[in-house]
Parts: sequence; structure tokens; C-alpha cells
Amino acid sequence: MAEVNTPPAEKVSPSIFSQITSMEHEQVMFCYDKATGLKSIIAVHNTVLGPALGGTRFWNYAKEEDALTDALRLSRGMTYKAAITGLHLGGGKAVIIGDSRKDKSEALFRRYGKFVNSLGGKYITAEDVGTSSADMEWISRETKFVTGLPEYLGGGGDPSPFTAYGVYMGMKAAASEVYGNDSLEGKKVMVQGVGHVGEYLVSHLAKESAVVFVADIYEDRIAEVSKKYKVNVVSTEKVYEADVDIYAPCALGATVNDDTIDHLKCHIIAGAANNQLKDEKIHGQILVDKGILYAPDYLINAGGLVNVGAEWETYNRERVKAQCERIYDRTIEIFEYAKKKNIPTYKAANEIAEERLRSIAAINSRK
Ligand code: NAD
Repeated sequence: MAEVNTPPAEKVSPSIFSQITSMEHEQVMFCYDKATGLKSIIAVHNTVLGPALGGTRFWNYAKEEDALTDALRLSRGMTYKAAITGLHLGGGKAVIIGDSRKDKSEALFRRYGKFVNSLGGKYITAEDVGTSSADMEWISRETKFVTGLPEYLGGGGDPSPFTAYGVYMGMKAAASEVYGNDSLEGKKVMVQGVGHVGEYLVSHLAKESAVVFVADIYEDRIAEVSKKYKVNVVSTEKVYEADVDIYAPCALGATVNDDTIDHLKCHIIAGAANNQLKDEKIHGQILVDKGILYAPDYLINAGGLVNVGAEWETYNRERVKAQCERIYDRTIEIFEYAKKKNIPTYKAANEIAEERLRSIAAINSRK
């Protein structure tokens, strides 16, 4: 597999095939249903390591092109996430275009489930931003290729606690690298987005007596988190200039970009959001130049994938937790590799993931 840098969101060509070929996707399916209003895109990036597992994002995209770009970038990220985590899964992702607070219905999710089923197991879905275990339950009426099911259906439940735990492990590994020890006590941490993962991350940080700052576009999320934990609330526009040690992006991707990067005062970026660097090559290098350590997103946010992946095989909660814990050592290894080769950490992670994909693809081609 050739090294392919994720094209920055606004620079990708409007031609669908040039996008697909530039990121080397295997298949992209556009799904429409008049009766339910479903508009969805399922992107299967790579199935060398196994079936493409990745969540379904429900988001009100400003333009349909943005939805496609998101599906393509996110599915590619899933390939790398599974590869670096040692999972036997490929990379895929889907988006449903709409407002998750208004447009959800049983019929819409079941129709979507039929589309997932039509791929015959090449793509397995799960929850993501804007979808939940309850939505997966509706999907499961129409296909067995769904994970992230509620525990009463034999599933692993919400993957977010595992994602948050892995991010916390990655953040501690980064602290150990930057500060010489991994304690987060007294460290100022900005959590951008206190949804499913963000709130669990806040709970770990609070337990360790970090000084937690939070921002969210929804007042009710801020109110909920402020009620449970001692946090400092920051307006969404002030996130990037906040005087903090660690910035944890836990909302949407591409927040490290030309407009924000100069404002960052943190020493570490470690969060749950996918595709945090708008342009890996450009922004990954600027972070190095600014002396900010970047804990690669797909490396440290893999806990949720570990959990839904385990559900697909034989689910064992303790094993999942142990695998999430390993993110700490894996992150240290990536930092070491990056230092040895004098490359940015995003590139170190990419190289290691690509090496695994290449070696398994070579075995497959000899069948
Ligand atoms: P979520 O929808 O529950 O939470 C996202 C939160 O971010 C919401 O509360 C939303 O209001 C807030 N938000 C959106 N835009 C914002 C902005 N501009 N500023 C501040 N807050 C903003 O989603 P989640 O499941 O917690 O996932 C968070 C991120 O982590 C996503 O990027 C997701 O792709 C990624 N991720 C999640 C998982 C998982 O297990 N849930 C796994 C891997 C990666």
C-alpha cells in the first residue's frame, strides 16, 4: 500500500473518483430512500486485515460534498486505526446526512440497516457522532453486520468509555514524554466537546486532579458536566487561545488548521476526535516546529474500536480494558520511533500502520 497523505478537507478534488483513487478506497456506496428521507454514504476503504468496521456518523453537513469527504477521510482513518492497534479489521465508515436531534426514526435506521446488509459483511457498522446503541438496535433488525449493541442484546454497549480510557492512556504517555512523568495532577487540560467521550475523559482527569477546562456548542452538555465535575467553562471560540498544558479535541476533526495552529499554547495535543490535523503534512510539521507533541488521534482513540471489534468476535470486557491500557506503551513506542527517524509523530504512526498492511497484503496475494 502506497503512503497516501490524507488530503486536506478543502483541497480535495470535487470529482468523486479522483477522491476515491487518491485515498485508495475499495468501494463507496450512496444510499437514498424517499420514504424515510435517508441519505447516506458508506465508504469501505480497505479490507486487507478483515471486514471494514467503522461507525455511522449522523451529521447535518452544510454541503453533500462535505459528507463525502468526511466519509472518505474517516474510513481511511479506520484502516490505520485497526492496523496500528493490531486488530483483524479493515477500515470503513458511513455518514447519514441530517440533524440527529430531529431526523432520527426507526424506519430510517432500519432502511439504512438494509443498505449495510446489502454489502454482505464487507462493512460492519457501529455508533459514532450523532448515533447511539439504541440506533444500532434498530439497525440490527435488518442486518447482523452491526456492533455497539446494548448489553441486554449481548453487545458491549457504548464504546465511548473505552475510547476515553485509551485517550487518557495516550495523554499520560504524552505527559511522560514531555514532563518526565505521567502524572496529570495540576495539569491544565482543555477538553473540546463534552459528549460521550469528552465526559468520560473529564471523569478520568478529575480523578487525577487535573485542572479541567471544557467547551461545547450545547449548553445542556456544559450544564450536565459542570454539575458532576469541577470544571472551568470556556466559550467555543476561546478554545484555541486557552492557556493550557494539554489540548484534547473531542468534538469534530480538522481543528488543528491554519486558523487555529498559531494560537495554540499547549505542550501536548491528545484527544478523541478523528483527523485532528487538517493537513497531516503541513500541520504535523508545524506542531513539531512549535514544540507541541501530538499523540496521533487514531492511535489513542482506538479503545472504542477495540470494544466493538471484540463484540464482533468473542466479547470479554476485561480483555478490552487490557487492550486499551496497552495504548500507553504503543504511544511511547511511536514517540520513540518518531525520535529515532526524526519524523513527526503522525508520520511515525502512519509508517507503522502501513508496514502491517503491506505485510498482510503480501501474504494474501500469495494465497
Ligand atoms: P458526541 O457527539 O457524543 O460528542 C461530541 C461533542 O462535541 C458534542 O457534545 C457536541 O455538542 C460537541 N461539539 C461539536 N462541535 C463543537 C465545537 N465546535 N466546539 C465544542 N464542542 C463541539 O461524540 P463522541 O462519541 O463523544 O465523539 C467525539 C469525537 O471522538 C468524534 O470526533 C468521534 O469521531 C471521535 N471518536 C469517538 C469514539 C467513540 O467511541 N464514541 C471513538 C473514536 C473516535
